Amino acid sequence: MAFDAIIVGGGIIGCTSAFYLARKGLKVGIVEKGTIGSGTTGNTFAWINATAKVFDETYHRLNAFGQSIYCKLAVEFGEDKLGLHPTGALGVVSRSDSAGYPAVREQARLLEGFDYPFAWVGTKELRTMEPHIVFPDDAEALYSMSDPYLDAPKFARFMAEKVCELGGTVLEQCTAKELQATDDGVVTGLITTQGALGARNVVVTAGADTPDVLSELTGYEGFATRFPMRRVPGFLVTTPSTLPHKFVRHVVYISSGAEFHVQGAPNGGLKIGSDDADGMITEDQSPDQLRRVAVQLLRRAKAVIPGFVGEACIDDCELGIGVRPYPEDGMSLVGPLPGSQGLFVIATHSGVTLAPALGSLIAEAVADCQMPEALQPFSLERFQAFS
Ligand SMILES: Cc1cc2nc3c(=O)[nH]c(=O)nc-3n(C[C@H](O)[C@H](O)[C@H](O)COP(=O)(O)OP(=O)(O)OC[C@H]3O[C@@H](n4cnc5c(N)ncnc54)[C@H](O)[C@@H]3O)c2cc1C
Repeated sequence: MAFDAIIVGGGIIGCTSAFYLARKGLKVGIVEKGTIGSGTTGNTFAWINATAKVFDETYHRLNAFGQSIYCKLAVEFGEDKLGLHPTGALGVVSRSDSAGYPAVREQARLLEGFDYPFAWVGTKELRTMEPHIVFPDDAEALYSMSDPYLDAPKFARFMAEKVCELGGTVLEQCTAKELQATDDGVVTGLITTQGALGARNVVVTAGADTPDVLSELTGYEGFATRFPMRRVPGFLVTTPSTLPHKFVRHVVYISSGAEFHVQGAPNGGLKIGSDDADGMITEDQSPDQLRRVAVQLLRRAKAVIPGFVGEACIDDCELGIGVRPYPEDGMSLVGPLPGSQGLFVIATHSGVTLAPALGSLIAEAVADCQMPEALQPFSLERFQAFS
C-alpha cells in the first residue's frame, strides 16, 4: 500500500489531521496500535475552550480558532454525530476567596481584551443557571457561553470514518515500528506490525508516547530523553448512567474551598475531576489509592449537589487515568522535524480543543509543503534541542 501521508496514532489529533489531509485530496492512512480513541482521548475532560488559556495571546487565539472550527463542523455534520454538547462553562469563585477571586477577575479582564465571549454572573443568576448545586452566598462566576464539551472518542471515531469515506485507510491493532527514508532524510515509508507501507509523509501524533515513538521510528535515542515534553497523568471519575446528569447543566469549575470540576458525561452520568486529585495519582497507581481519591471527589460533589448519591455509587463508577502530553512551555509542538523531509509531529495538551485547528493547519503544511504562519510560533525550533 502507498500513501501520500500516514498518521501514526489514532487519537483525536491524529484522526482530525487525517480528515483534513483526506479533504485536501491526499491518500491517507491511520496506523493505530490499539483502537481509535483508546489513548488519552479516551480519558479526558474534553472541555473545548480558550477560557483557561490566557497566559499567552497567540496560544489563546489558536484555542479559540479550534473552538470556532467545531462550530463549523457542527453546522456541516450536526452536534449529535460529532458528540458535541453546547453547554457553556461556569468558573465559580467566592468573593471571600482572597487568592482565587482576584485571579478569576484577572482572567476575565484578559478575556475581555481578547474579545472572547463571556459574562460575569452574580450569585442569584448562578443559582438559576445551576439550580441543583448549592453555592455560597458570595459565589460569582465567569460564564463562557460558547464553551461546549465533547465526547472525544466518539468524535475521533467519526473523523476516522470520514477518512475512510474519502478513500483513506484505518489500520487498528497496527503498531508503527520503523521509518524508511533515503540517506539524506527524505521519508519513503513506514514499517508496521502489519507490513511495510509506502508514504511520502509521516505525521506522528502519538500523544504522550510521542518521544518514545520518535526514538523507535528513527533509531535516535535522543528523542526519548530530550524531546521537550512531559507525561502528566490526570484522574477522572465517571458515575453510572443511571444517575441523572441533569444535576449539572454546564461545565462547572469550582475553585474556592474543596476545588473540583464536573460536567455531564456522554453515558448520562457525571464526569468529575480536580487538579489536586491529579497530583495524588501516578500513571501506575494502585486500585486502592485510586479508589481513595475517587471517594474524596464523590464526597466533594455530594457536598454541593445534595441530590447526588455521592460515595454510595463508587462501585459502579469508572475510574480512569489519562496521560497528558505536556510540552515544556505548555504550548503545542507542531511542524516538521528539523533535518528531515516528510516527517511531521504534533504533540499537545488541550488536544481536544486544538484538534481541528492543528489538524487543518498541518494538512496545509503537508499538502502545500509550507508551514502556515499560524503554526510558526509552535514549531519545534523554539526549543534548544531542535534549534
Ligand atoms: C484528565 C485530563 C483532562 C483533560 N482535559 C482536557 C480538556 O478539558 N480540554 C482539552 O482540550 N484537553 C484536555 N485534555 C488533553 C487532551 O485530552 C489531550 O491533549 C488529547 O486527548 C491528546 O490527543 P492525542 O491524539 O494527541 O493523543 P492520544 O489520544 O493519546 O492518541 C495517541 C494514539 O497514538 C497511539 N500510538 C502510540 N504509539 C503508537 C505506535 N507506535 N503506532 C501506532 N499508534 C501508536 C496510541 O495508542 C494512542 O491511541 C485532558 C487530558 C487529561 C488526561
